[in-house]
Amino acid sequence: MFSCRQIYDLITEYDEGSLETADRRRFEAHVVICPPCRGFLSQMRATREHLGHGSPPEFPAELEDSIVSAFQAWKKQQR
Ligand SMILES: [Zn+2]
Repeated sequence: MFSCRQIYDLITEYDEGSLETADRRRFEAHVVICPPCRGFLSQMRATREHLGHGSPPEFPAELEDSIVSAFQAWKKQQR
């Protein structure tokens, strides 16, 4: 499992699609369970789109679903 610090270091490579499959899976596994890193990733993509540096790769739909449920579970824990 990557730490948040490693996510910050690798986020550019992830976004460019230059991570190896194993690292990419570990990256996604972290982002799914870590709302702050998920927010960081979408913020970075929004910035890239705003700057017009091409469109980022899409999240697979099933990963998007698991992020949503992980986030909802996380929100429940906060109550
Ligand atoms: Zn994190």
